[in-house]
Amino acid sequence: MKILRIAARLRVSGNEPFAYLPVLWYSETMHKLLIKNGLVVTEDSESVCDVLCEGEKIAAVGKRLFPEQGIECIDAAGKTVIPGGVDVHTHLNLDVGIAVASDDFYTGTVAAAFGGTTTIVDHPAFGPPGCSLDHQIKKYHGFAEGKAVIDYSFHGVIQQVDEDVLRMMDVLAHQGIVSYKVYLTYAFKLSDSDVYRVLERARELGVMITVHPENDGVINLLRERFVAGGKTGPTYHPLSRPAGCEAEAINRMILFADMAGGAPLYIVHLSNALGLEYIRQARQRGQANLYAETCPQYLLLDDSRYELPGLEGLKYIMCPPLRKVSDRESLWQGLVQDIDTVATDHCPFVFSTQKILGKDDFTKCPSGAPGIEERIPLMYSEGVAKKRISLRRFTDLCCTNPAKLFGMYPQKGVIRAGSDADIVIIDPEKTLTLRKSILHENVDYTAYEGTELSGFPVCTISRGDVIVRNGVFTGKAGRGQFIRRSLPAC
Ligand code: MN
Repeated sequence: MKILRIAARLRVSGNEPFAYLPVLWYSETMHKLLIKNGLVVTEDSESVCDVLCEGEKIAAVGKRLFPEQGIECIDAAGKTVIPGGVDVHTHLNLDVGIAVASDDFYTGTVAAAFGGTTTIVDHPAFGPPGCSLDHQIKKYHGFAEGKAVIDYSFHGVIQQVDEDVLRMMDVLAHQGIVSYKVYLTYAFKLSDSDVYRVLERARELGVMITVHPENDGVINLLRERFVAGGKTGPTYHPLSRPAGCEAEAINRMILFADMAGGAPLYIVHLSNALGLEYIRQARQRGQANLYAETCPQYLLLDDSRYELPGLEGLKYIMCPPLRKVSDRESLWQGLVQDIDTVATDHCPFVFSTQKILGKDDFTKCPSGAPGIEERIPLMYSEGVAKKRISLRRFTDLCCTNPAKLFGMYPQKGVIRAGSDADIVIIDPEKTLTLRKSILHENVDYTAYEGTELSGFPVCTISRGDVIVRNGVFTGKAGRGQFIRRSLPAC
């Protein structure tokens, strides 16, 4: 039937009658993979069934799909089958001036694959002053091509605002770059008026604006004050970037987005309870197109890490910093309804050679921590296994919502016929202790050393290829493809 349909389509499109022969050949040799008897999380059910992949796509989801002779079969009985993880906040190859993030598009995506992530959307570094909006996109295409083992895209980074940048937002959107990042702190922070122009333009185009929200003025004042007073240990990092600085900037962006006519706004790495409260209030007022992301570090770690002896605290220098236990608990409550996605902000720096730059002054420590490989295992174990969130909610937060919000759905983020065959099999019975030694990130520590995990991804399938199985990598560099994203569904 399938072959007849293809032939019919070719005739309609005016091809020569024999043109279907190569298609026929391709159809018969197309790689097929049948995943049997797993607990499959689809959009409307969680049930024990089978998933048939043909080539790069999911061909069918259903009960008792019988294997044809010779097709590859994976027994997933007792396992949980979810869509491949989608991590929309990574920083591979990130150059922050004093250091370059230690994972590139090969090592970073291999680690992602081991951790059950099959798609990333990377946030590029700033480019040279005055560069065109496509400067960093071109550079990152170069970083990813030939290296990525899973599919990828990039957010655009808006580091100044002028007519050319506003024009290029539309040009790039037609090339599949339908989301942009603005920073309210760091070297290329945008002024209020520039942010407002970007939001108006985003409203016009329907693209998503993601924001790193922190109040630059107060943070700089506090940092300078601490350093001048000789208060340079890691404990001063969180004190120099209080939760109020983040919450203020979140609320400012929410109000700007509303004033700009309801521009699509996505708060990255939400770390504190007050910021979450502002998001809730805006939604209660009826503000649409407002979304929030948090990260495992803000759900599982807290600011007591900065008190660890010696230089250990440097491992946790990231922006925003780890917050109070009470913030952590608020974020878990937020995951049930108000927070839309869990991403990683994966930004690894080697402790022994890079994080150590902050040994005498926390402001000299490159900011960021690894996490691309730990996200799905941690969220499954701490969220689903500990019954803080449902399996469905976990899947929405880590796979489906990020794909929807960033224009990749239903190609990504869902198990349904016609979608890419990106599938992860989790063994809920597998227990292990998270240690750097079992991870594949190109860095010398994990922020979660010693965490006991219940449940772990045991098989990762990307567009029909098994790329990790039982701890063995079977993918290859360069097989990952750039995803031309479409306008987000919001
Ligand atoms: Mn980031």
